[in-house]
Amino acid sequence: MCTTKPFFDPLHLTELSFDALMEWLLSRSTTELVSLAQQVCAETYGNKVFLRGLIEFSNECLCDCLYCGIRKSNHKVQRYTMSDEEIIETVKKGLSFGFKTFVLQSGEYRRELPERMARLLYQLRQITGEDVAFTLSCGVYPREVYREWKKAGANRYLLRFETSDESLFAHLCPGKTLSKRLQALDDLKAEGYVVGSGFMVGLPGETVAIRLRNVLLCRELQLEMVGIGPFLPHPDTPLASESPLPIEETIRTTALLRLLLPWANIPATTAAGSLHPQGREMMLAAGANVLMPNITPTEKKRHYLLYPNKICLDEDGWECLSCLSLRVASVGKAISFERGESILRRNTQ
Ligand code: SAH
Repeated sequence: MCTTKPFFDPLHLTELSFDALMEWLLSRSTTELVSLAQQVCAETYGNKVFLRGLIEFSNECLCDCLYCGIRKSNHKVQRYTMSDEEIIETVKKGLSFGFKTFVLQSGEYRRELPERMARLLYQLRQITGEDVAFTLSCGVYPREVYREWKKAGANRYLLRFETSDESLFAHLCPGKTLSKRLQALDDLKAEGYVVGSGFMVGLPGETVAIRLRNVLLCRELQLEMVGIGPFLPHPDTPLASESPLPIEETIRTTALLRLLLPWANIPATTAAGSLHPQGREMMLAAGANVLMPNITPTEKKRHYLLYPNKICLDEDGWECLSCLSLRVASVGKAISFERGESILRRNTQ
């Protein structure tokens, strides 16, 4: 396990107090932050951008998070769940395109999912062998469920903590607590998953100090994957009248993450691309090293609207590949079809 190893910190930022780090951050221009993060990313991951095939297999959800377009109370959503056959077909197609990592994401629908997911993973493993990594992103479940899914073939798990501020979390996610979510991240780590988490940038009620604490929590948790993206207000949620922060805040936060977690796999997220036409390229230039093309069948993915104006909804995920290659090339990077473990894992296994 990789819990206590001291990590490299090229700029000695971790030696700074919270206040000193805040001061350092506020006195750096975005160009400066981006250029520092770029250097660190080049040293750890070269110019490689790892691909993950994202399959949004169900938008059913029992949660009612204020920010989320597929929250339980949004009755405008047309709910769907892909069949096992559909998911298997999508994975097979992904394999033929060269994908070595698949992310299976859904809302939280606690009753049916545990058994079904275990069955599905066993089937998928038969097809893919051990070469391929399966990442799940299905929310909080009891530790035994995570254990079953791991046994069945899952390798990685993404579960954003959304915000490091306990009371903001409780306000935004009724009925849920930050400590339960952090417990779930501990459970996942203890069960041997490669663990990813992260947060939204600019949630209503987030202060600059909370945002810095979000980044520091990612480091404290020694995450191998960190997903962040701008909060984008969805019109059919209680936060409809809020505004997103300019893309620059997400870019600065990405750069800081790269500086404080040089080992992490950091995706350039769809939310950034939805806020700004070059949002993903800007994240890649600021130290992100992963892209997650959405390979969910088109007729399904248009109903997985966590936020409005989501990009690439009408295109087939397969068409996205050539567009993504160009975007990646525009920032001097190149797509890699490797499984793309984090540097941390490569050094410790
Ligand atoms: N049920 C899974 C997957 C949630 S959806 C889980 O609980 O982990 C994936 C991510 O989308 C969420 O973790 C959240 O950070 C992000 N998201 C949800 N609503 C959003 C919005 N309005 N703007 C930007 N990102 C959003």
